[in-house]
Amino acid sequence: MNDAIRPLDYLAPPACIGILGAGQLGRMLVHTAQKMGYQTVVLDPDSNAPAAHLSHEFLQFAYDDPQGIDLLAQRASRVTTEFENVPAHTLESLSLKVPVRPSAYAVSVAQDRAIEKNMIRACDLQTAPYHIIGQACDILKTPLELFPGILKTARLGYDGKGQVLVHDMAELHSAYASLNASSNPTASDESIPCVFEKKLPLLAEFSVIVARNERNDMVNLPIQCNQHINGILHLCTVFNHALDAELENELIQAAHKIAQTLSYVGVLCVEFFIVDESPSSLPSSRTPKTPSWVVNEIAPRPHNSGHHSLDSCDVSQFELQLRTLCGLPLVTPRQHSPCVMLNLLGDLWFKEDGTGPIEPAWEKVLAHSGTHLHLYGKTQARKGRKMGHLNITAAHPKEALMILDKCLHILDLPPIKSAFLSMSTHHDH
Ligand code: ADP
Ligand code: MG
Repeated sequence: MNDAIRPLDYLAPPACIGILGAGQLGRMLVHTAQKMGYQTVVLDPDSNAPAAHLSHEFLQFAYDDPQGIDLLAQRASRVTTEFENVPAHTLESLSLKVPVRPSAYAVSVAQDRAIEKNMIRACDLQTAPYHIIGQACDILKTPLELFPGILKTARLGYDGKGQVLVHDMAELHSAYASLNASSNPTASDESIPCVFEKKLPLLAEFSVIVARNERNDMVNLPIQCNQHINGILHLCTVFNHALDAELENELIQAAHKIAQTLSYVGVLCVEFFIVDESPSSLPSSRTPKTPSWVVNEIAPRPHNSGHHSLDSCDVSQFELQLRTLCGLPLVTPRQHSPCVMLNLLGDLWFKEDGTGPIEPAWEKVLAHSGTHLHLYGKTQARKGRKMGHLNITAAHPKEALMILDKCLHILDLPPIKSAFLSMSTHHDH
């Protein structure tokens, strides 16, 4: 049987878990592994990365350095990744020596928006309407109904990077040229593969985080309602009944279907758009044919929108990842508290006039009950950089939102949009 689908035996602690990537996801995975008695070895090119100093062992190598790959395989009994863009051939060559989950195949699908969208449609699920632009001459074949749309590089985009909002053909030409120039400043031809997708009128964004093992056991975290600012996740709310039960079930089933189709083993996040179908938001007044939701994208790893689980659930997304990796049973995480998660970007360390960096007033934030501060140990604050997150748990959603309001005020952040609130607290009393 192919190693990628052979069920893994139970791996007892203090065995060593190998992690590709020492970013914040790797750091939280190391915390959880240590809590569960496992040792860790982490590989990352940056010796200052968030997980580098706390792992039992740290290997400073490029992700495609054969020497680093060999050492990781020697030291670790199982290997996983926290970094989405680790070269697929690295995962493949590792998997010849040590069990690797998720598979190189599943990760490679998530690395390319064109392949990813194709896979989603092959699952009989909807995506935003799109057109693939592999080279400049494909621009002319763009269907006009996709305008206004968002041009996205097929590979290496994250946190809204590598995306340009485009209103017409002329803008599409210049956006494609600018993405080419920033991705490959020395090349004279324009050949960066991109996906151009229709900008949809969004009512809300949700995500489902599912964990699956080789036996096709699947469990998921409670569904997250996500608010982005400039393409970066800003807030998540995790409240019971935020969505209509039937719709919520559809999204969960869709996430399970994707995990199953990819023969996915590990933790997978599926992002969804809830689309506004009211006639005024559509270009024509015909009865809308668009579905009420579409799949946006997937992430082959724990996800920023699942960070709440560290404080709101009895099993976190990082524990789920370890359970799939260590052949442990998957149990459904139970949420014990409604939760709001606020991302803490480097911007918070700077004043309006640009002076800084100054550490925000955590002592004031932590004076409020239910606040759980997670900082990633990054030594340099930069605007747009994810420095940490704040989980706020409470007995009731309204109370969590009240404390959030106070924390936003302390941190000099604007109050949350009421449209987001009405969606995230829908049905809640
Ligand atoms: P990333 O890999 O950077 O997370 P996404 O495709 O998820 O890229 O885009 C980031 C955010 O930009 C989304 O969460 C959403 O808020 C917005 N966005 C992306 N695509 C669309 C679209 N087709 N219509 C409307 N908003 C979009
Ligand atoms: Mg996204």
